[in-house]
Order: sequence, then C-alpha cells, then structure tokens
Amino acid sequence: PPDVEQLGRATWTFLHTTAAYYPERPTPTQRANMLMLIRALPVLYPCTHCADDFGEDIKVNPPDVSGRVALSRWLCERHNQVNKKLRKDEFDCTKTDERWRDGPND
Ligand code: FAD
Repeated sequence: PPDVEQLGRATWTFLHTTAAYYPERPTPTQRANMLMLIRALPVLYPCTHCADDFGEDIKVNPPDVSGRVALSRWLCERHNQVNKKLRKDEFDCTKTDERWRDGPND
C-alpha cells in the first residue's frame, strides 16, 4: 500500500501548485478539466478512507473553479479540514500564494 504521508505531501504539492498557477479567468475547458481533476480524487485516490472523507467534504463544500484566487482558497480550506481531522496546525489561507506561487519552494 502507498505511504499515506508521502502520497499526501506530493498530492497537496501538486494540487496547491496547480491552483496557484490556474488562470485568473479560466476558459470553460479549463474549468471543466479542473472540476474533473478534483472529482476524480474521491474515485481514484489510493488511500480509501482519505478519498471517502474528501468525497464527503466536497459534497458539502463544492469546488470553486471560477479563478485562481477562489480555487486556491477553496483548496486551502479543504486541506485545513484534513489538518483538523489529523490534529495538525491550521494553515493561514491568506498565505497560499506566498507558499505555493511566489515564495521559495522546498
Ligand atoms: P501536508 O499536510 O502534506 O502539507 C504539506 C505542506 O502544505 C505543509 O508543509 C504546508 O507548507 C502546506 N500546507 C498545509 N496546510 C495547508 C493548507 N491548508 N493550504 C495550503 N498549504 C498548506 N492523511 C491521513 O492520515 N488521513 C486522511 O484522511 C487524509 N486525507 C487526505 C486527503 C487528501 C485529498 C490528501 C491530498 C491527503 C490526505 N491525507 C490524509 C494526507 C495528509 O493530509 C498529509 O499530506 C500527510 O499527513 C503529511 O502531512 P504533512 O504534515 O507532511 O503536511
């Protein structure tokens, strides 16, 4: 089975970075594909209980793919939901660009 921690770090890196560089004004095609990418996670993410909980969360909090700012915030809030469940520190969602776009990456 996959290492859930390493998989999680890699996946959040991919998702937050993709959101940080998502267009300000995405085309309908870009929006549709982002929606598919997000909706694929509950179906395909290879940590079943993670996938199930994420699926429940996005039912209550549907993805906002209208533009990079809204998407980055939405994703930050979803990640914070997981942080809360795992009793990790909450991330300041005003700092997503600094972390994932402008700032130095690790
Ligand atoms: P991560 O939580 O992986 O975060 C990586 C980096 O992202 C942090 O160092 C920080 O710089 C930044 N960051 C942190 N919070 C935010 C935020 N809110 N917004 C933007 N950037 C942020 N693990 C489980 O054990 N159980 C689960 O149910 C579970 N569900 C998951 C669901 C999904 C969709 C994903 C992608 C992962 C899930 N994970 C789950 C994995 C878990 O979220 C962590 O990735 C893993 O525990 C490693 O944590 P970490 O402390 O290294 O940092």
